[in-house]
Amino acid sequence: MSKLTDGALAMLFPQRLCCHGCGCMLAAGEELLCAACREKLDRCTLKRKDEHRQFKPEQLLAAAAYAYDGMAAELARSLKYASDKAAAIPLAEGMARRFALMPQLRAAEVCVAVPSFPRQAQRRGYSQAQVLCGAFAGITGLPQAQALRRIRFATSQVGKSRDERRKQIIGAFVFDEARTGAVRDKCVLLIDDVLTTGATACECARMLYAAGARRVLALTACRA
Ligand SMILES: [Zn+2]
Repeated sequence: MSKLTDGALAMLFPQRLCCHGCGCMLAAGEELLCAACREKLDRCTLKRKDEHRQFKPEQLLAAAAYAYDGMAAELARSLKYASDKAAAIPLAEGMARRFALMPQLRAAEVCVAVPSFPRQAQRRGYSQAQVLCGAFAGITGLPQAQALRRIRFATSQVGKSRDERRKQIIGAFVFDEARTGAVRDKCVLLIDDVLTTGATACECARMLYAAGARRVLALTACRA
């Protein structure tokens, strides 16, 4: 491809030809991330003991693809705050790898995104967990269900303890009676961008069990 064509294409499809990590022009054969950024993303691998976590009373196994650090955190922030939907794809690829490597996760029959508060999703134009869930489902072939709805906005959870977050998030989600068929008696994989204290994932798990799910697992792009 000539330089001129490259430049013209880059103007027409800037997202397609620029690296979602550093913004540089992608070389032939590179997709979404340049080689250097892909290497940076690979370096965000979690320590073995942090790859998954078991939340006891909620009976929730939560796994993550990356540490919330470096390039993984950068992509998660681009997805959440910079309207960069395509940043979800490299993250979802990492999630699909974790899914393939963990037999417990492969028991999942359907995936459900942690819903955003409608007003937040509206401002952004999309829900970041939903975009991740769509990309993940596209790679793994797992069907998606929209079983949950967020009815309450939680104020910033930064710096709050797990107990404080837990209290704040209780009652923030509901399930639609009419849509429980997709999760009833199923092993459900809950999808979100970042797992912090697990309070949000545990509350969603509680609602999914109430909606009749047989088992709930969680998979996030990052773990803080
Ligand atoms: Zn790059």
